[in-house]
Amino acid sequence: MIVIAEPSKKLICWSCGSENDAEVQFCANCGKLQPYMPADYFSFFGLPRQFALDRAALEKQFYQLSRKLHPDLYARASAQEQQWSLEKSSVLNDAWRTLREPLARTEYLLSLLGIRLEEQSRNASDRAAASGTVKQQVVPSDLLEEVFELNMQLEEMRMAKAGGADDPELRRNLEAARENFYQQLKVSEQDLQRLWAEWDSSADNEATRQTTQEKMVGLLNRRGYIRNLLRDVEEALKA
Ligand SMILES: [Zn+2]
Repeated sequence: MIVIAEPSKKLICWSCGSENDAEVQFCANCGKLQPYMPADYFSFFGLPRQFALDRAALEKQFYQLSRKLHPDLYARASAQEQQWSLEKSSVLNDAWRTLREPLARTEYLLSLLGIRLEEQSRNASDRAAASGTVKQQVVPSDLLEEVFELNMQLEEMRMAKAGGADDPELRRNLEAARENFYQQLKVSEQDLQRLWAEWDSSADNEATRQTTQEKMVGLLNRRGYIRNLLRDVEEALKA
């Protein structure tokens, strides 16, 4: 899917009549708060749609906007301005929470690109609700053997605990598995950043973008799977 930037919509300031971009929060001429226009989180912050982002700059912008949009400042303004400040403050908080987190931001931008990861998560949680576990998720093929081995160890650990005994060797194995999963998560974060850079720098190459997006989806699914394994191992390691 090709994402075409929407033709920049214009907004006439209700107070001074100047023309502004539709997404601005304040009139460039008179500084008055402008109506809330539904916008994605990137354009709310005036950012391009990109995966990589300067978190420190975003944070600074968030605090500035947060102060300037604060409903207390509009206590004596018109009812309309009060309403806009409430709406914009609420969107600002959601946008900040989503864009500051690398994984949430990745999923959000993928969803703007028309790629939904919810199917996978929903299936996982439906299964979890039905069986009390998420083990029936599809195992990434390169993890099959590892997962098979791990599940046997987890089962042994449960039996050992149920029998009131601890098995030091088993515990060491599970601790090693835990460390291994932590490492894999770390590596996947680095891989994800590489994919961001690849996507961000291929604005003129739709094929590269498509491939990169697919890799991101695969990476996020695999990551979700490893996180579930990690949770099971941590559960089993609890004294
Ligand atoms: Zn104005």
